Order: sequence, then C-alpha cells, then structure tokens
Amino acid sequence: MTSQQLIEKLISDKTLITPRIIKAFKAIDRKDFVLIQDKDRVYEDQPLSIGYGATISQPTTVAIMLEKLQPQPDNRVLEIGTGSGYMTALLAEIAGKRGKVFSIEYIPELKGLAEFNLRRYNFRNVGLFVGDGKAGLKEYAPFDRIISSASGDETPKSWKNQLKAGGRIVASVGENLVVLDKTSKKRFKQEEYRGFIFVPLR
Ligand code: SAH
Repeated sequence: MTSQQLIEKLISDKTLITPRIIKAFKAIDRKDFVLIQDKDRVYEDQPLSIGYGATISQPTTVAIMLEKLQPQPDNRVLEIGTGSGYMTALLAEIAGKRGKVFSIEYIPELKGLAEFNLRRYNFRNVGLFVGDGKAGLKEYAPFDRIISSASGDETPKSWKNQLKAGGRIVASVGENLVVLDKTSKKRFKQEEYRGFIFVPLR
C-alpha cells in the first residue's frame, strides 16, 4: 500500500472523518517514524515495534483516537507516551501555530528517537519531556485535550485535575479506549470502547 491508499482506506471505512484530521494524516508521513527495516511495510494497517517494548500504533487506532479526541487548532494538548513521535506530529499539525503539544515519554532513548524523527518537520509548538506521564505535567496545565497511548488500570487523577472544564481525555484503560469529558469543574462523563490493545503504562 501507498500512503495515499492507506489514507483512502481509512476514509472509505469511515475511520477518518474530520477534514482537519485527514489533512494532518496527509501532511505527516508515517515513514518518518518507523525503524529502517520496516519502511517497506509502513503503510500497512498494523502496529510496528520501535524498540524498548514500545510500538507505533496501528494507523486505524491512531485515527480512531484522534477522531475521538477532536483536537482543535490553538488547543493545549498533553500526550502521554511519545514513542516514535508520530501521534505528537499529528497533534502538532492540528494544534497549529497558536496551539501547543506537550508530550511525556518514560524512556529517555525513545524521547531521543521522537526528537530525531520530529526534527525534519520543524514544529515550533512541541515540547518533549522525559518522565512518568501518570503525574501529568502540572507546570504546563491546564490542557484542552489529554491523550495517552499507554494503557493503565485507571485514568490518573492528575490528568482529570489538569484538564480544563470542557476538555476531553482519550486514553487506553485496560483493553478499552476511554473518552472522558470534563463537563464542569468536578463532573465527568465517560464512554468506553472495547477491543484495543496498547503498550502498558509503567
Ligand atoms: N504514540 C506513540 C505510541 C508509543 S507506545 C507512537 O505513535 O509511536 C506507548 C509509549 O508509552 C511507549 O513509548 C512507552 O515507553 C510509553 N510509556 C509507558 N508508560 C509511560 C509512562 N508512565 N509515562 C510516559 N510514557 C510511558
């Protein structure tokens, strides 16, 4: 498959719907975020190992997560689990000049990999951090959107606290994808979608 064929497949099966998200998929080349030995199967709809027990998620999963997250231009976005930096790049493309993406990765070598991969895109709206994403990033809160592609047993309280009212979290919890809306300062509304497998949150 080519990049265009993969994107057309995601559009025709209604995984990709939002024009802004489709545009980002076209602007960010998944090839720039996989290991050299995988470049020939980069546009197949499957996760690929990036080392250190991490994977770049399956394109369908990335698309579903972004469609659920509905990031807006100018949003402040917190990402947990930078990995390859692919999702980071998509988020940065969507957030645009007035937005900002803060991404935390537990493994320093992967933060380094993401930094390297992202360099060719020259984003000025991305901050990469090494640390435990479970604590969030208090210094840069509050966030409009929080997204985690590492799976924990529950959604950490810190994320809920660091989310703006009106904001949304999309995170993997167990083998579910959880969409959590902060409807007011203390209230949350949660939806769950079954059947996703993610790298565990450490
Ligand atoms: N979005 C990434 C997916 C990477 S897989 C991509 O597109 O490539 C999930 C990542 O979460 C892994 O890199 C893993 O090291 C990281 N991770 C796991 N637990 C974490 C934690 N507690 N804090 C920050 N990152 C974590």
